[in-house]
Amino acid sequence: MLPTQVQCRPATINFIYQSLDISLMRDDLAIVVGAQFLVYAVAWAGIACVDKRRRVSSSYWALYALFQALSIALFALSMTWNSGGVGALSLLLAIWGYALSNAGVDHFLNERVRFAWIWICLLAAFSIIALNPLAMLREQTAQVISLNGSAIAFCAIGAAMFARPLRREFGTAGLIALLPSILYALLLAVKTIAFFVGSGVSKTEVPSSDSRLGLFVFVISVAGAVNISFLGLYVSRLLKSMKKVATTDSLTGLLNRFETARILRGEWARHERSGKVLGLAFVDIDHFKRINDLGGHKQGDEVLRTTAALLNRELRTSDIVGRWGGEEFLIILPETSAQGAVAVMMRLHQALQLERVEVPAGCEPLTISVGVSSSEGAPTRSDVDELIAQADQAMYQAKSTGRNRTVVHAVSAASSVK
Ligand code: GH3
Ligand code: MG
Ligand code: MG
Repeated sequence: MLPTQVQCRPATINFIYQSLDISLMRDDLAIVVGAQFLVYAVAWAGIACVDKRRRVSSSYWALYALFQALSIALFALSMTWNSGGVGALSLLLAIWGYALSNAGVDHFLNERVRFAWIWICLLAAFSIIALNPLAMLREQTAQVISLNGSAIAFCAIGAAMFARPLRREFGTAGLIALLPSILYALLLAVKTIAFFVGSGVSKTEVPSSDSRLGLFVFVISVAGAVNISFLGLYVSRLLKSMKKVATTDSLTGLLNRFETARILRGEWARHERSGKVLGLAFVDIDHFKRINDLGGHKQGDEVLRTTAALLNRELRTSDIVGRWGGEEFLIILPETSAQGAVAVMMRLHQALQLERVEVPAGCEPLTISVGVSSSEGAPTRSDVDELIAQADQAMYQAKSTGRNRTVVHAVSAASSVK
């Protein structure tokens, strides 16, 4: 026997409740679930207000959570009012919410809603099924297909579309963000199959408090996991951009001094562990002050950018280059002897000559002076600062002996020849 309240509901609403098990969700539970979605909506709206760069995707996620909250609220209301129209609107809001959440991820990953036409087509198709205008499907079947089917389709197609950009930006770990929606889709698929296999199953029994609690936990968990996965993407990108700012020189795009020193300490530790040789080159642009004086700081900055790009381009991928100071660069050459480092530096001198960097009239063509040191020449029990000091000394020697040249620190040179 149906309880009185359920019996007097219009058929459409009964079908929705029965097919989706939401009849198990009494109003008090609906309020808790709806409130949870509302909290997410407010949180994402807050993020959209403070973070201009990710405003669009955060707004989509705020709308998604708001639509789900409204959907749940309307659902509870439709139970009280016995209104089929309100129930249908609740169903549509849930489907539109799925589309908005996908559009949010799409915009987050691609800087625009790249697959808009896919989300619009899915949204339109499932909205039409939900409204079932031609009554081609039994109403209950239409409700199951529209709500479960749209959730599965949005999750599955989203996973297929987002896997590659997620991997590109966050590595394989980025795929974790897809897990909640994939699990949700799988669970819904099982539920849907069970519905069709046991077709005509009419859940007329008053559900036990255990099964009500089960559904309550399911909806709360899915909503939480999906929103946390959005938050995970958001925080990961924020951390990445903060790390980039903290480690990059803003003018040249090279590593900054802090990061270069950190990497050098790591390479030194590796050299100490493995005994493999480590080379270092200290590069200083010649007469750079004249470029500033004759062409202004803007042109000076441009010359720094061009030189940095040239160093980046000409060095091997295993070499690391950072901006150490104003017009000074430090090049870390792992597993490279002093002799090997000199060969690399000769290539740089040549490349700079061929590049013909634009300098103000009255300036000599751009050249660099380089000092090289290597772990071969570092005294035993020395540290990495000693290696830098040696390269620096050798660079000053290059300056004092005519500039536009590479000089190897005496100790490294002697050790290299041995
Ligand atoms: P030398 O051949 O002996 O190295 O002479 P130099 O003129 O290159 O060296 P000096 O140390 O006299 O001058 C370096 C100049 O680099 C002074 C400083 O104003 C300029 N500089 C430092 N940082 C920047 C920067 O970010 N942009 C520009 N445009 N100039 C910078
Ligand atoms: Mg200098
Ligand atoms: Mg200089």
